[in-house]
Amino acid sequence: MNLREKTAERLMRYARIDTQSSNESRTTPTTSRQFDLARVLKEELESIGVPQVIYDEKNCVVIGKIPGNVPGARSLGLIAHMDVSPDAPSAGVRPWILKDYRGGDIVLNEEKQIVMREADYANLRQYVGDDLILTDGTTLLGADDKAAVSELMTLAEYLLAHPEVPHGLVALAFTPDEEVGGLAKDLDFGQFEAQSAYTVDGDHLGYYADETFYAYAAKVRITGLSVHPGTAKGIMKNAADIACEYMRLLPQTEKPQYTEGREGYDHVHRMSGDCEHAEIELILRDFDYATMQRRLRELEDIADLLNAKYGPGTVTVESEEQYRNMKEIIDTAPHLIANLRQAMQECGIEPKTAPFRGGTDGAALSWRGLPCPNISAGYENAHGRMEYVSVQAMEATVRILIRLCEICGKQQG
Ligand SMILES: [Zn+2]
Repeated sequence: MNLREKTAERLMRYARIDTQSSNESRTTPTTSRQFDLARVLKEELESIGVPQVIYDEKNCVVIGKIPGNVPGARSLGLIAHMDVSPDAPSAGVRPWILKDYRGGDIVLNEEKQIVMREADYANLRQYVGDDLILTDGTTLLGADDKAAVSELMTLAEYLLAHPEVPHGLVALAFTPDEEVGGLAKDLDFGQFEAQSAYTVDGDHLGYYADETFYAYAAKVRITGLSVHPGTAKGIMKNAADIACEYMRLLPQTEKPQYTEGREGYDHVHRMSGDCEHAEIELILRDFDYATMQRRLRELEDIADLLNAKYGPGTVTVESEEQYRNMKEIIDTAPHLIANLRQAMQECGIEPKTAPFRGGTDGAALSWRGLPCPNISAGYENAHGRMEYVSVQAMEATVRILIRLCEICGKQQG
């Protein structure tokens, strides 16, 4: 089997293993089914002959290391996540391959008449002539991020079969719970050993990201005063009403539905309330640190204004940092982006970048001391039933990673 077939075969196999993580669970990992894939990966790393395999059974982290064959060469770390999103059904994934896609709509499920329409998914047009791995329209595929898991495994197998490829230490890590903010918190840097890394997780072949949002979560609590509505005049303070007033005072054009590119936003993702109590939950996102501070101040300013109107303590605000923009840290290790761009170009892929409008495990890892930009894994329509990946895009990603190994193999690090 060649690189393309091997990577496809792996994804077909891994996709069938349900590894959905959970937002509700407080355990590590959030769901025990993630161990099902972890065990498969551990055994597969051993069976293809990866010399060092570390399985952290408690935290569900699998590490495979291939020592360098060039003394003193730069190490390369690559990280993919094993879980799939809780946003779509994940049980009973039935992946299938459409060979040589000719363009047009794709019938995913004849019986249920589920069709992926080219008109709705313009990204299909760039894959005419490719082999696509698809769902049956009733579940997600999990190519986010099992396409990357497959790519990393095939890379390891290739390096072991081709000792003539010069490389430093190549360390692979498979981690749980990325989709629910796990932030690869249990990846042990000592065991991982690589000095810098890439997460391989993202859509559109050829894209990479060295910039993420600064992210905060905030909770606004409103305490009202409930009395009998018939005799409430001048006395009642309706917390639900005050919550609506609070939301109207937020910057009205700085919401997810009105922003793109480098624009930040405040997003109310939940609100609840009655006359006595109300609560607003928001997330704040911005690429710029100073603007993020302004957003946080605004939340306080609105509270002050409403407290002046309704009495001290009516509105309180609590906020906490979720993750930080990794750019500051990535910039301290400029070889990461330079090498990646070179590898892509040498593989005939035009490198493209855009600030990533979200967070990545790499953002958290970067701030913990492991600079870690993100490379696309090549999948499309993640987190939904129309998810798919081109087998050729996965193969191209493996080739980029092989080239990256060679480039690092020629550098001292
Ligand atoms: Zn992902």
